[in-house]
Amino acid sequence: MVRANDSLLGLPGGYLFAEVARRVRRYTSSHAARKVISLGIGDVTHPLVPAVVAAMHKAAEDMSRADTFHGYGPAGGYAFLREAICSHDYAARGMDIAPDEIFVSAGAKEDVSQFQSLFDRNCTVAVADPVYPVYVEANAMAGRAGLWNGSQWDRIVYLPCTAANGFMPEPPSVHVDLIYLCCPNNPTGTAMSRDALKEWVDYAHRTGAIILYDSAYEAFISDPAIPHSIFEIDGAREVAAEFRSFSKTAGFTGVRCAYTVVPRELSVTDENGNPFPLNQLWKRHQDACFNGCSYPAQRAAEAAYSASGSLQLRGVINGYLANAAMILDAFRSMGYTAVGGVNAPYVWVETPNKMPSWDFFDLMLDKTGVVCTPGAGFGLCGEGFIRLTAFGTHDETKEALARLAEL
Ligand code: PLP
Repeated sequence: MVRANDSLLGLPGGYLFAEVARRVRRYTSSHAARKVISLGIGDVTHPLVPAVVAAMHKAAEDMSRADTFHGYGPAGGYAFLREAICSHDYAARGMDIAPDEIFVSAGAKEDVSQFQSLFDRNCTVAVADPVYPVYVEANAMAGRAGLWNGSQWDRIVYLPCTAANGFMPEPPSVHVDLIYLCCPNNPTGTAMSRDALKEWVDYAHRTGAIILYDSAYEAFISDPAIPHSIFEIDGAREVAAEFRSFSKTAGFTGVRCAYTVVPRELSVTDENGNPFPLNQLWKRHQDACFNGCSYPAQRAAEAAYSASGSLQLRGVINGYLANAAMILDAFRSMGYTAVGGVNAPYVWVETPNKMPSWDFFDLMLDKTGVVCTPGAGFGLCGEGFIRLTAFGTHDETKEALARLAEL
């Protein structure tokens, strides 16, 4: 028999959302008459906007004719999309990012989980706690996380995000090589100020660390003081790569298109200490392991930047932000401590009397038929919290909050 990857076997339990789904199934089997409302999983509900749909139709037409058919696309993505990204997401905000620093992919989950393979197995990894679980699990599968002690990995450096620090990760006192920053953060919905982000960039310069900056929720930033990209900070090009996605920005969770920015200045070293550009290493990795995001998906993503597309998408995002504001207000007026929801589609709520988050999940589901995500699934510091998402429809969100008011 062939031996399995021990690191994969060593992963704890099931994926968080699989456990949420299992408990919801158990509930619905005994409460068939009650409609379950999910403020849990972070998937969008609004359909694709008309400008995006039109671009997909047009791309399907292109694919139907021999002279405009597209097979494998260029590595890193079509020039039309890379140029649109550079101009709308970066140049428009005063950042100079070149098309060959953009790598289009089929999802940020794919990118953030694969990017760790560019680094030595012994690199030390730091993550915010609580945070999107994929960073840790990808490093754990690669054997970089050490052993699971029942609640944490012994080689991961956790950066606690609690009420005491405004739920913002702070630079650690121990040396780390790779730092995953998720901003705006999933699950807390909090976002770092320019000064806080500058502290991280300065820290990386001082220590030689690399920041892996996930800004999948950048489009939800509504406070003008919050940077949209780490490259808004001077010196970030030498120390950071950035991950972005059309999933939450343009409703592409089922279309699949994202991108990673790897500046030319960002380097790693070989075993003799010679520098090697990470941009070339990621290109090499993608050439070897990825055959591109489909032509219709890239045309659809391009349409998200068109005048009509961006206007339509602004409307959708504002709708989600209105839900977030409604959730935040409702919980605060019920006396809960809650943060987030202003620059992100997530609201992070403290459970009453420090009730364990899975117990509160069960209580909420049982009494109201409303699903949340237990904070404990995002890290030890998530215990005693739940995450609520603003991705539902306005009416369902309102109904969920009315039911919760009774609880
Ligand atoms: N990064 C963060 C922080 C996320 O929350 C998610 C999805 O929930 C992703 C990345 C995944 O994005 P994609 O749909 O592009 O794989």
